[in-house]
Amino acid sequence: MELSTMLSEAFGDAIEVTLIDKNDSFYFGFSKLDVMFGLDNPDKVRLPYKKFVKPGVRLLQETISRVDPVAKRVTTDRGTHEADFLVIALGADYDFAATPGMSEATEFYTLEGATRLGEMLPSFTHGRVLIAVGGAPFKCPPAPSEAALMMHEYLTRRGIRSACEITLIFPLEAPTPPSPETSRALLAAFAERNITFVPDREMRKVDTQRREVTLDDGRVFPYDIFLGVPAIRAPKMLEESGMTEDGYVPVKPKTLETRFPDVYAVGDCARQGTPKAGIFAEGAARAVARTLIARLRNEEVPVTHEGKGVCYIEFGGGRIGRVDIDFFSNPDHPTGIYHEPSVAMRADKEHFGSSRRARWFGL
Ligand SMILES: Cc1cc2nc3c(=O)[nH]c(=O)nc-3n(C[C@H](O)[C@H](O)[C@H](O)COP(=O)(O)OP(=O)(O)OC[C@H]3O[C@@H](n4cnc5c(N)ncnc54)[C@H](O)[C@@H]3O)c2cc1C
Repeated sequence: MELSTMLSEAFGDAIEVTLIDKNDSFYFGFSKLDVMFGLDNPDKVRLPYKKFVKPGVRLLQETISRVDPVAKRVTTDRGTHEADFLVIALGADYDFAATPGMSEATEFYTLEGATRLGEMLPSFTHGRVLIAVGGAPFKCPPAPSEAALMMHEYLTRRGIRSACEITLIFPLEAPTPPSPETSRALLAAFAERNITFVPDREMRKVDTQRREVTLDDGRVFPYDIFLGVPAIRAPKMLEESGMTEDGYVPVKPKTLETRFPDVYAVGDCARQGTPKAGIFAEGAARAVARTLIARLRNEEVPVTHEGKGVCYIEFGGGRIGRVDIDFFSNPDHPTGIYHEPSVAMRADKEHFGSSRRARWFGL
């Protein structure tokens, strides 16, 4: 959407942009947390694509079954589309089959899963809450920590926190590895709230009958309510189209070029050198838009993918922290500037959502 918007702003009707998505609406990843904890309604968070109207852009609701990156041809359930430039932005699919038991388990990473948990939570009165991740990489590394902190807040508000335990099984060594300061703040918040954090461990199996999760070190964690985070992979169709290596589309991180001429890939489906998060997908899309605008105008092509992003982190109680992450400026390691959680930061996050709602959907 950002790429199409920028192309439309630059060229209007002078070029043809075709945007294909199998869905009829968009929703922010973070909406799923709000839906799970009853802070928003699943119907309200959906932004319908029919409101995405930009000069020069055709939005088609079709399902892609094959991408031919050499011919730059895309086959869908409705036909084929050929292009001079192709940008793959198909995201990552949840790989439920990668973790035995996960397809029957409760999860909050799809809108349907978050809605289901939102319906279950009000009847949960005591016991063990277990949040566990199927493996790295996964979408939005801070989201499981946010779920733990928001769960603490939710149970406290209902007066049942002391009757419950919250455990977070996490596949990385720290909650936000690119920003040690943010990790320290999150670990302190877990300790203050009596949330058990188990780092560097992946969930290997879920047994929904016995209500327990087995980790990669063999330890077994029983639960009363389970908040699963499924493993991911780039859509299988991209693998079948010969575009992936080790599960994702390889790209040059600074230019987002694939190994196929005039074919770019951005976001969760690509290995673009940043975490799997919407803010980085958007930043990469902006970089490709700048490149395409320059190429179409026969101007010098800028190398613009900066690998920077702002992540808002829900600490519960309406307080939000922020970390500004920069992946490429320092060649040795990413850097992150941490902003303490505050109620005032909510306005910042709301502006983040509303500015994009207005820019893309006119809403
Ligand atoms: C609980 C949760 C909280 C999150 N919070 C944040 C956050 O606070 N900040 C943040 O930056 N990120 C967050 N994220 C992550 C964010 O949602 C994703 O990283 C982001 O959506 C990735 O963008 P993308 O464009 O690469 O892929 P997607 O947003 O997944 O878009 C891919 C699109 O491709 C379409 N598609 C896929 N296959 C096909 C096909 N075969 N044919 C046609 N269309 C197809 C899909 O319908 C989809 O619309 C969160 C995620 C979750 C689950």
